[in-house]
Amino acid sequence: NKPTAKEKNPKLKDTKPFKKIDVAREIATNPSYAKPHKSFVVIGHVDAGKSTLMGRLLFDFGIVDAKTVNKLVKESERLGKGSFALAWIMDQTEEERSHGVTVDICATDFEIESTKFTAIDAPGHKDFVPQMVSGVSNADFALLVVDSITGEFEAGFALDGQTKEHTILAKNLGVEKICVVVNKMDKEDWSQDRYEAIKEQMMEYMTSPDVDFKPEQIDFVPISGLTGDNVVKRNASATTSTPMKFDWYKGPTLGQYLEQVSLDSQPSRDQIHAEPFYLSVSDVYKDKGELKVIGKINSGCIQSGETVIAYPSEESLQVQSIKVAQTAVDFAISGQLVTLHFKTSQLSNEAVDPIRVGDVVAKTVASPISSVKKFTASLHLFNMDKPLLVGMPFVLFRNSTQAAARISRIVEITTNSSMTKQKKKKNILHLTSKQTAIVEIEVDGGESLPLTTYKDNAKLGRIVIRRQGSTIGAGQVLSLE
Ligand code: GDP
Repeated sequence: NKPTAKEKNPKLKDTKPFKKIDVAREIATNPSYAKPHKSFVVIGHVDAGKSTLMGRLLFDFGIVDAKTVNKLVKESERLGKGSFALAWIMDQTEEERSHGVTVDICATDFEIESTKFTAIDAPGHKDFVPQMVSGVSNADFALLVVDSITGEFEAGFALDGQTKEHTILAKNLGVEKICVVVNKMDKEDWSQDRYEAIKEQMMEYMTSPDVDFKPEQIDFVPISGLTGDNVVKRNASATTSTPMKFDWYKGPTLGQYLEQVSLDSQPSRDQIHAEPFYLSVSDVYKDKGELKVIGKINSGCIQSGETVIAYPSEESLQVQSIKVAQTAVDFAISGQLVTLHFKTSQLSNEAVDPIRVGDVVAKTVASPISSVKKFTASLHLFNMDKPLLVGMPFVLFRNSTQAAARISRIVEITTNSSMTKQKKKKNILHLTSKQTAIVEIEVDGGESLPLTTYKDNAKLGRIVIRRQGSTIGAGQVLSLE
């Protein structure tokens, strides 16, 4: 049995919240917590129209006004970040912005009458960003925006390895559903034939062994992000002289799809209070005697005054205050993106960073998080032209953390032909594309990685591996050593 944080550090105090709040009751009775909270990641080729669509969605849902959309588009261009990370910028203070918080997290929260949403931006640039893994791990479903313009669709989807990589990642990091948003239909004169042709090609790709979505996980919605047709309003641009052009389409608008999409993973409100608290750290900075830690609460809840432990440093710190967006709150719950404020004077050694990007913060009570050098995982491999051998180095990602690692033992190949099952080889030394295997993974250089098993937390217990600049595998943590 591993010693608990308290056994390791007898001085550790389990401090009480500053205010007496019955969080369980608040969650149960406050109507704002009764709303379902859904997270989606937006994937798509550069210029497919992701930011135009997000701007339109936020505008038509009444979240932002036209002036703000324009201002944000300009600001986003000025910052050179592209994509819709711009929408997130509006929630931030100058100070937070200058720390790049906004664009790194790539997420924007908004709320309509029926539902709360977190929209996650799959960064459009070529460089792989670990935040992508973090973002996609937190997404319940994905929107894949494709440009329907003749020639563009063909070029974009066929050639853009990154869109494909994002799609495969989304599948392997556990999104439950994917909606192909067939955009720029105005340019194709809302041709049903064009829509059906794209649908057919996409369906074939998405259900191919490479991607492996099941047909019932895939939906399609035709839209024009520019004119707004079928985004939130059914026929945003129709007038009496130019009536609606897509009577043939009988499905939901994209807005209706977002509201209606049914997901199995929604945590029930009465469980949140009892769940262990975890937060995965997206950004950290020191400012005016405070250490500010930004991240998404993966499970449970936190109140100011309580003590938390950072993994892997295992330093304990008392939460002084909590902010959600820019508002100070007494407590925060699972699904929220928060800033936790700590006093730097409380750190055991001010010169050492006790919390880094990619770390996990948990409460002092028994936590299934461990910092480990070795663990067992179920790993699905894809996109490899050479096999992966035992001992070969790769980069391991878990949320926004990364480490050099390698397979130390292949326990068992679990997919593939029935042949492999019949003749279970004793000593398997390599894995090839499209195989799924149970493997032991060892972190290099004596580093430890804070991990939970997939069973303990479906969002933190996922991993992705990359080699020579491309993603070759994804999977779930089964057990910790
Ligand atoms: P992103 O790179 O995926 O975020 O794409 P943008 O939103 O920046 O859009 C790229 C270009 O396509 C811009 O010039 C947009 O005005 C244009 N665009 C986006 N959506 C539509 C649409 O529905 N119809 C038309 N005609 N153009 C669009």
